[in-house]
Amino acid sequence: MQLDFSAKVVLISGGTSGIGLATAKKFLAASATVVINGRDMRRGELALQELAGGSDHLAFIAGDVTRTDDCRALVERTCQQFGRIDVLVNSAGEYLEKSLADTTEAEYDRIMSVNMKGAFFLTQAALSELKQTCGNIVNVSSDAGLNGNVLCTAYCASKGALTLFTKALSLELAPHGVRVNCVCPGDIETPMLARQVAETSDPEMFRRQMSGIYPLGRIGTAEEVASVIRFLASDSAAFVTGAAWSVDGGLTAG
Ligand code: NAP
Repeated sequence: MQLDFSAKVVLISGGTSGIGLATAKKFLAASATVVINGRDMRRGELALQELAGGSDHLAFIAGDVTRTDDCRALVERTCQQFGRIDVLVNSAGEYLEKSLADTTEAEYDRIMSVNMKGAFFLTQAALSELKQTCGNIVNVSSDAGLNGNVLCTAYCASKGALTLFTKALSLELAPHGVRVNCVCPGDIETPMLARQVAETSDPEMFRRQMSGIYPLGRIGTAEEVASVIRFLASDSAAFVTGAAWSVDGGLTAG
């Protein structure tokens, strides 16, 4: 599919790693100007190098999306540098696998804060820019934002909220010509997944079992999610809004 994002500015929270980083690559390959965000400066610099930094069409802006001041600053600096925002991808997120009984208040607050509040207030900060450009938003939810997963109550609650935030906002912004969609990936090979696997007693066995639950017989790649994000953000998806697009090898099809 030939997609052209030249003259478009794409802001990606959590763009320094995993799905966000793969998404940055996809948009750059389609001639977009891309701003990636994350909290860690070093990770940001490494990501810029990986994306062939030094380009006039690429920047890293550090910030913590759980802080509303940082969300506003991220949007302001993007607009100062590049003049507009056409696409917002909310990919910043964290994972937590714990029983309800074991989840602390601090863990609950952190998961809800980064996965839901961050997307909410970064979107709010970017709203007037997106209305001006008739742009669009793609949130990175999860299969856990559609179905319940075992030992995943806080994460599921945060991603379920993000999925319905997507749908409700799509109705609010449709009269302004702004589309809002989310992707719902299953297990995807990223540093987040690598950390989850590393914490198990038998990583090899865990990985085999994990792959085995997917109808397509494997877990996904960040690039496969990024392709769908870029498609949803493109004019090819001009009549798609309020969608929760599964990218999960058939996991939630049954
Ligand atoms: P990842 O490789 O760990 O990347 C997470 C990114 O988010 C990093 O760039 C990280 O940078 C950034 N980030 C985290 N907290 C942040 C904050 N408070 N403010 C700004 N940036 C923040 O994870 P991933 O696997 O790509 O996950 C990306 C998204 O996909 C998440 O929302 C995740 O829930 C979702 N997802 C992942 C999978 C999977 O299997 N991998 C499946 C379904 C959904 P810093 O740490 O430097 O801030």
